[in-house]
Amino acid sequence: MDNRYSRQQLFSPIGENGQQLLREKHVLIIGVGALGSASAEALVRAGVGKLTIIDRDYVEWSNLQRQQLYTEQDAQEKVPKVIAAKNRLQRINSELEINAFILDADSEQLFGLLEDVDVMIDGTDNFDVRFMMNDLAQKYQIPWVYGSCISSYGATYTIVPGKTPCLHCLLKVMPNTGMTCDTVGIISPAVQIVAAYQVAEALKLLVGDEEARRKSYLTFDVWKNQHYEINVEKMRNDECPSCGHNPTYPYLAYENQTKLDILCGRDAVQIRPSQPVHYNLEQLASQLRPYGEIQLNPYLLSCQTPDYRVVVFQDGRVVIHGIQDIQQAKSIYYRLLG
Ligand SMILES: [Zn+2]
Repeated sequence: MDNRYSRQQLFSPIGENGQQLLREKHVLIIGVGALGSASAEALVRAGVGKLTIIDRDYVEWSNLQRQQLYTEQDAQEKVPKVIAAKNRLQRINSELEINAFILDADSEQLFGLLEDVDVMIDGTDNFDVRFMMNDLAQKYQIPWVYGSCISSYGATYTIVPGKTPCLHCLLKVMPNTGMTCDTVGIISPAVQIVAAYQVAEALKLLVGDEEARRKSYLTFDVWKNQHYEINVEKMRNDECPSCGHNPTYPYLAYENQTKLDILCGRDAVQIRPSQPVHYNLEQLASQLRPYGEIQLNPYLLSCQTPDYRVVVFQDGRVVIHGIQDIQQAKSIYYRLLG
């Protein structure tokens, strides 16, 4: 067995059959920051036949400490994460199909990517997207693996529609402290542990080892040497709007999707136009040059003014860094782009 998967095939719960199954499977990773990078790399090395990655951000210097797929050059050039990730992943394993989308996912766009997806992996940093994933998972019967981490703490849970409680059911036990990576920081071991659990669960689901699937909600603090598993099997709620008897999938409703939101507490406001806009970035660059220093790549344009930085993506999405006030963001938006 002198092939690249020989050690994995020697592992009897996977074996040659499991390896063949992995080859036929499709995993969707939503968000390729720290968790998504780690899972994507592991799944590509494991030989999962098809991987779809989506993410709305580009690589920044503060990502390099823990987002393992990215390099200084990616940060220098502000390469969108999915593009940098795909390039790196394809160099790790050229045999697989890897699809990359620069997207700030809403449920309609996500729905379009769900075809033949076997497992979804949560690599996001916010609960809006997680609840949308949760509803999509229930509606289309796709298992998914929740994961989150912050500081030295992490949590993960495997959700299988029809078998386990969903994220909505579990809300009661989940800490919602409002902390983000940008306020309390994060260390990479916390990321690696969550991602390792997520990938292990994904592999079990993909090879069909139902018995091995972890049934508990797991949390740990790697710095304080704490590890907890919460038995949540009985928490499934028949009245749950996402997985109960009469589901309404509230997070798929159009009106629940914010068109103007503040990104993960990191001193930035994101604006999404309600009508699709397609910018000619080169033309826009000359228009914005009087305001500040312009940096342009095929995917986005950045304009650094003395007070803030405006980043415009081709699909019309705009992120203004250096401010937190929505009204101020709107006025900058209309002044520069309106
Ligand atoms: Zn539920």
